[in-house]
Amino acid sequence: MAKIFFDEDADLGEIQGQTVAVIGYGNQGRAQALNIWDSGVRIIVGNEEDEYAEQARKDGFHVVPIAEAAAQGDILLLLVPDEIAPGLFENEIRPHLRSGACLCFASGYNLYYGQMPLPPDVDVIMVAPRMVGVAVRTEYERGAGYPSLIAVHQDSTGTAMARTLAVAKAIGSTRVGAVLSSVEEETVTDLFDEHLGHIYAIRRYYEVLREAGYSPEAILLEFYMSGEWEALARLEREVGLFHQLAYHSRTAQYGQEVTARLSDEDEARERARLRALLANIRSGQFARDWAREQRQGAPVWRPIHEQNLAHPLIAEEQRLMKQLQRKR
Ligand code: NDP
Repeated sequence: MAKIFFDEDADLGEIQGQTVAVIGYGNQGRAQALNIWDSGVRIIVGNEEDEYAEQARKDGFHVVPIAEAAAQGDILLLLVPDEIAPGLFENEIRPHLRSGACLCFASGYNLYYGQMPLPPDVDVIMVAPRMVGVAVRTEYERGAGYPSLIAVHQDSTGTAMARTLAVAKAIGSTRVGAVLSSVEEETVTDLFDEHLGHIYAIRRYYEVLREAGYSPEAILLEFYMSGEWEALARLEREVGLFHQLAYHSRTAQYGQEVTARLSDEDEARERARLRALLANIRSGQFARDWAREQRQGAPVWRPIHEQNLAHPLIAEEQRLMKQLQRKR
């Protein structure tokens, strides 16, 4: 069983009085910076001079160039896109890092795939929220929180774990639970989830039902546009994956438990598919493919994305979105 840490396990004193530098002021950067500040830990923001920097200043933060933040920071939260981080680190952070500083990542990706050669005299930790940036802030604001996976990847000062817990507390995560993990586990489980094909599964259901003559409205409402899906996901979280069936009709329960069950043959095929996805991640093949795409300007991804956006489902979905009188 993984160890889970809560507010009482963490001491903000470990990072209070030190210079905490939030590098990158995007989804996670802005949310985490605001939470840390509201937790009583003073921070600076490192960002290029553009609209993100402007937003940070509007939010009341002292913004400095990234190299300067790296030079001043005792604790550096690296909150830029994973594909940007290695280059940015090499050029603007590593040359300025102080011995004994702490690098904190919100994802294990670059550490797991060894894409950033790290100096031996710094702490390297991970505090990876299991939450999108905007909700990292809204959950904190409403007095709740969200879980994170945490790990110490490199402990050069002997205080890396205490620093990890302090960051997790400052961003609001130990309110709910910070789960001890590793950069490998965080990366593999996160990518695996992303590669399962949820979006394509929904599109497949849409196509099959449209072929049979059912209306786009009925199909889209069934699968994601009514909000029922969020309500069910919430029940799964709060009551349990199978216990939440009690909230469905008996007919729905029977259909989900019995009819939806795969035959032994199909189950074996599906597991083989999942194991292949996992192997593609663990072998580094996915990371190599993605790195090549970035170098070459996304020759595979771009046409697929354009094709996906041109699918009839999209036009129907956008039309329905405008028609339904729902508050966002
Ligand atoms: P964003 O895409 O929101 O990051 C934007 C920030 O990165 C901006 O400050 C931007 O500044 C900066 N940035 C982008 N390109 C560059 C560049 N070339 N040089 C310098 N700065 C750059 O990232 P996320 O918040 O989505 O992700 C940050 C980390 O959090 C990642 O490790 C991600 O895996 C992790 N994470 C993200 C989650 C999410 O909800 N999105 C959930 C959990 C973890 P500017 O453009 O001004 O340079």
